[in-house]
Amino acid sequence: MSFLSDISFRRAVALFVLTIALLAAGTWTIVRTTTDYLINEYVQNIAHHWAQLVAENVNDLGQIAAGEQPSSASLMFFRATRKSNTVFRYIIFNRYGYSQLTVEPDKIAPVELSEFSAEAARAIAQGKAVVDIKRGARSGLPERYAEAYVPAVVNGKAVAVVGAYVNQAQAAQVIVNVSWASAIALCLLTGLAFAVPAVAWYLRTREKQQADRRIRFLAHHDVLTGLANRAQLIERLQNAVAVLPSTGTMIAVHFIDLDHFKQVNDTHGHDAGDFLLTTIGQRLKAMSRLEDTVARIGGDEFVVVQTAVVEQSQAENFARRIVEVVSPPTYFKEQEILPRMSVGIALAPKDGLTPERLLKSADLALYNAKVTGRGAIRFFSPEMDDALQARIRLERIIRHAIANDGFTLHYQPVFEMNGKKLIGFEALARLSGPDGEDIPPATFIPMAEEMRVIDKVGQWVLNEACRTAKSWPTHLTVAVNLSPAQFESGRIEEIVAGALGLSGLEPHRLELEITESLLLRNSEATLAALQRMKDTGVSIVMDDFGTGYSSLSYLWKFPFDKIKIDRSFMESFERSGHDVETVVKTIIALGRQMNMRVTVEGVETAEQVDFLYDAEADQVQGFFFGRPVSATEVNANLLKDFVANLPAEAEGKANRAKTALG
Ligand code: C2E
Ligand code: MG
Ligand code: MG
Repeated sequence: MSFLSDISFRRAVALFVLTIALLAAGTWTIVRTTTDYLINEYVQNIAHHWAQLVAENVNDLGQIAAGEQPSSASLMFFRATRKSNTVFRYIIFNRYGYSQLTVEPDKIAPVELSEFSAEAARAIAQGKAVVDIKRGARSGLPERYAEAYVPAVVNGKAVAVVGAYVNQAQAAQVIVNVSWASAIALCLLTGLAFAVPAVAWYLRTREKQQADRRIRFLAHHDVLTGLANRAQLIERLQNAVAVLPSTGTMIAVHFIDLDHFKQVNDTHGHDAGDFLLTTIGQRLKAMSRLEDTVARIGGDEFVVVQTAVVEQSQAENFARRIVEVVSPPTYFKEQEILPRMSVGIALAPKDGLTPERLLKSADLALYNAKVTGRGAIRFFSPEMDDALQARIRLERIIRHAIANDGFTLHYQPVFEMNGKKLIGFEALARLSGPDGEDIPPATFIPMAEEMRVIDKVGQWVLNEACRTAKSWPTHLTVAVNLSPAQFESGRIEEIVAGALGLSGLEPHRLELEITESLLLRNSEATLAALQRMKDTGVSIVMDDFGTGYSSLSYLWKFPFDKIKIDRSFMESFERSGHDVETVVKTIIALGRQMNMRVTVEGVETAEQVDFLYDAEADQVQGFFFGRPVSATEVNANLLKDFVANLPAEAEGKANRAKTALG
């Protein structure tokens, strides 16, 4: 930058000096010509003046020119005038050009040997003054003087020539001084007149250049980090892709996204966020080669383009190094910030040949890395594209359902084994796509969690389930599933209380089903919230029991009202037979010991029912007893007949089992 401004500065100075030099040369020439002219004029004037003075005051000029002695009056005149500074000598010539009388400061005398002067003769012949400028020192003469020959006219007739030797030195000096002083003043004024706009022009040009450079820089760089921006990235990617066929190598596009960057901004402030981004930018730059491109293309999104990749493993190693180099903690105002990131990689030419396609592929890979677990590194694969399209579609369906009451609830009956009594229903959310296809909750619930709209969905489910249950006979309960994400906003208690308040449902008729994954996250606060809800009379149920890693440990950390044995146990019942029976029996016994009722989910066959009678399960739920159905169906058909219409097969087997047990 300064190099460029140096060049234009030097140019401006050179131009200025040249102008001043031209100005000086011009002025010098003008001054010389003018001073010479002025001096000549001056000399002629003086000489005329003298000639006139002599002609007027020396009456016997004609006689003197003819060789006679001057009269005493003339001598007095000569004496009075010989001391003049300006005319240091004058000679009176006759009309033929021969000298007759010399008047000098120290002598007034007729010439001894008359000399001919061509100039004097010419002055007579031409009838006008002849001036001859003399330069250069000669003994006894001034440095610069002029000889002026002026015809003296008496009664209209030239009678003599007065040759006046005019000392120019003083006058010339004055003229020269004045001329030079004016010239210098003129020069300065002109210079000033030139310099002021020139300086203004220079300053403006420099400002403009700086602004231009800034604009050019901003057009290609990210302001915060100074890294390349999207525009430059695309340009460089384009160039890198263009040379691929000739090199036979690959390009790896590493798309990096910081995990939980929002949290850094929220907890440490935006300055800390900016600091983190700058630090990461520096770290990425430091680890990359000059020919690689490091860009920041969005809030917390960076891209590194690795060129000259020969094998995929090189790209993988590079990505690992990115994670390694960027991950060490950084400190902002003594607060530790841990940068965490995910990396998606696309390879050219395999995953795309245009910058846009490559970035999209890398972004898809990044997205996948984030979904499958943050902090991961993923290469792009074509399935990711299809998966993304499906996700985008699902997101749209969910948003539409939230905005237009698009969710529905189905209710699956839960029976008490003992006495074959219907005790309530589990509310299960349902969602249909635009083509009428059913989207399973196992698909849309996690998606709603990710989209951070699960609170809205969950609130609707709670309100709807409580409202519906309120219309049922009062001994029937309703179970609602809660997702762990619903505890994150801290509003779950308020939402549950709201649903109960709105519907008027008694709290003891509501069961909240949670899974172990909820307790894995923030167990202290969550357990406290669960306890407070339990204190209001709501039942807390451990759902899908037996599928987690540490299910048992939670049983003594929270006094669940009920545990529901996951349906996977019943699924493997036929296959693993005896082992499953043992485990299920043990869990039932454990529940009994801990004062928790035990529901077995996913009961599908009569054999399972037989076994569960045998194992003394408290409650059962499954297709064998009833599939999830709509609220209308619940109301219209099932409620009144549930007890009477228990499947005949189940009833028969159950009775047989009971009889056998004695
Ligand atoms: P879940 O809470 O364990 O619900 C029971 C699931 O087992 C239901 O699946 C039900 O249809 C299915 N099921 C019941 N009996 C049988 C059977 O005999 N055989 C088989 N194979 N399956 C049976 P669904 O409705 O697909 O729900 C799946 C999961 O989605 C639920 O598991 C629950 O965790 C979640 N879910 C459903 N609705 C909601 C909701 O409103 N909120 C939240 N957070 N999760 C929900
Ligand atoms: Mg459930
Ligand atoms: Mg379950």
